[in-house]
Amino acid sequence: MTKAYEIVDHKYDVIVVGAGGAGLRATLGMAAAGLTKVFPTRSHTVAAQGGIGASLGNMAEDNWIWHMYDTVKGADWLGDQDAIEYMCREAVPAVYELEHYGVPFSRTDDGRIYQRPFGGHMSNFGEKPVQRACAAADRTGHAILHTLYQQSLKHDAEFFVEYIAIDLIMADDGTCQGVLAWNLDDGKMHRFQGAITVLATGGYGRAYFSCTSAHTCTGDGNGMAARAGIPLQDHEFVQFHPTGIYGSGCLITEGARGEGGYLTNSKGERFMERYAPTAKDLASRDVVSRAMTVEIREGRGVGDDNDHIHLHLEHLGAEVLNQRLPGITETARIFSGIDATKEPIPVLPTVHYNMGGVPTNYRGEVLRPTESEPDRVNPGLMAIGECACVSVHGANRLGTNSLLDLVVFGRAAAIRAAELVKPGQTPPPLNKASADAALERFDKLRNASGAHSTAAIRGELQRVMQNNAAVFRTSEVLKEGVDLVDGVAAKLKDIKVTDRSLIWNSDLVETLELTNLVPCALATMHSGEARHESRGAHEHEDHSERDDVNWMKHSLAWIGADNSVRLSYRPVHTYTLTDEVEYIVPKARVY
Ligand SMILES: Cc1cc2nc3c(=O)[nH]c(=O)nc-3n(C[C@H](O)[C@H](O)[C@H](O)COP(=O)(O)OP(=O)(O)OC[C@H]3O[C@@H](n4cnc5c(N)ncnc54)[C@H](O)[C@@H]3O)c2cc1C
Repeated sequence: MTKAYEIVDHKYDVIVVGAGGAGLRATLGMAAAGLTKVFPTRSHTVAAQGGIGASLGNMAEDNWIWHMYDTVKGADWLGDQDAIEYMCREAVPAVYELEHYGVPFSRTDDGRIYQRPFGGHMSNFGEKPVQRACAAADRTGHAILHTLYQQSLKHDAEFFVEYIAIDLIMADDGTCQGVLAWNLDDGKMHRFQGAITVLATGGYGRAYFSCTSAHTCTGDGNGMAARAGIPLQDHEFVQFHPTGIYGSGCLITEGARGEGGYLTNSKGERFMERYAPTAKDLASRDVVSRAMTVEIREGRGVGDDNDHIHLHLEHLGAEVLNQRLPGITETARIFSGIDATKEPIPVLPTVHYNMGGVPTNYRGEVLRPTESEPDRVNPGLMAIGECACVSVHGANRLGTNSLLDLVVFGRAAAIRAAELVKPGQTPPPLNKASADAALERFDKLRNASGAHSTAAIRGELQRVMQNNAAVFRTSEVLKEGVDLVDGVAAKLKDIKVTDRSLIWNSDLVETLELTNLVPCALATMHSGEARHESRGAHEHEDHSERDDVNWMKHSLAWIGADNSVRLSYRPVHTYTLTDEVEYIVPKARVY
């Protein structure tokens, strides 16, 4: 079978799969090959609007320990505090590094980096909102991604663009040896061998019908890891952003509320005052999304069908909007035909971010936990960015902490890789059988001639996720969701691919992506059904309290080759890295 394919071999010290913010930051300074399915600057990071969090204290007093406290609280105590400490401490040098690389941040009058308020970012352990989000207008991700790409070129990183990574190549002892990829442009298959393979493939928002993420966000790294026997951690925690544009799902950054925007219901009430008396519209995302959903459910939504909410920016005036939020003013015009300087924007909570992912430690090393060794490292494999679960975001991510996660842990992975890889060392021979198995899976899909088109199965998957793993969950809805998602997964065996070509075959690309979305969705639904508590983004109506005694633990979903799901758990890290801060003990979460 494999004779039908032309195979090209490559050897590098490090292979980075993904060239978004995380992948590009890791690639910097390493003799690495960067694989990416779209041109680097088209990665979803480009769409990030609001900012990157760091306690620079440019606008008012701030402190990385307050940032750590907010992150732990935002995560609803599911985050690993050693990793959170590392991220919040490293945030300040990371942002100055970006500044020196050339990111064109917005400026204060005296020339310092401009910072805006964002949900859940507070001063003095939750006292009042603080301006911590470092912003380049409302195009922060765009600015960071382009800068990192320029820097990678300067540092001679080698990119393989429009190469689709299909599967990891694993040695018999479980060490990762590289990745098999398909070059869309010439149809050849490439075996990339490296001492370390870094997954930086982004999130899986496209498992849902309505999301703010790009079409490329299909959880490819999570799927590859799952097939290589790595569990998917905390996938039940899916973040709904409060302000997706009603109808299109396009994002209106939380920075809009940071600049003074607010939400109203059909009675014109600023209802967030009732749900979060201190932080109001700047409470954490899960809190605001839930409040909006309650308002709609209780009949106070706006519009003909009372099914959405209004976001007001018009009182800020055209000057502020043009200076601080030019991109979203344009987005509102294009996607809802609204002039945001004059009327409110119709918005709805929309799938935005995946807190879960491939489990790692704070150095970016992927874990393959066992019962006796919950932090056991899987040699040769790293994961960073949205596809990873470090876990710094726990049950709910704070806005601006993802861009931060990308650069801090991208850099941490590069540092760790430099410690682990001896330049020029001869790698053990490649496990050809593993690469052949990956190619066989590809070949089978390419020739699949079953009953269901990729688009039909994907559509069904997206509807099930949208209906059964949403903002509010019940035992009944989740149980039904498990049956439905298992049913969708079973249809993969009977999939139909119509285009057999090896060049620019989008049907086959989407099919490969679907085989990655499915394990992501299975992990989300099964882990969610099993978690009998409410924590962060997982709001369970039949178990409405957080239960630290039984559930302060990470879910691990092990996906079998037959798409069966086995769940196990590993403890949350309840310690810090240094003596400078103490473990923050769980308490009730109010904003
Ligand atoms: C609209 C929007 C606005 C946001 N705003 C903010 C914000 O203001 N602040 C903040 O902190 N966070 C924000 N976020 C979240 C944050 O932007 C993302 O979590 C983050 O950019 C993800 O970066 P990444 O590097 O992990 O992945 P991505 O940027 O998604 O990059 C993934 C890379 O992997 C490659 N890839 C994927 N699969 C394969 C494959 N099979 N083979 C080869 N290559 C592959 C892709 O080509 C791409 O290069 C926002 C997200 C969205 C969607």
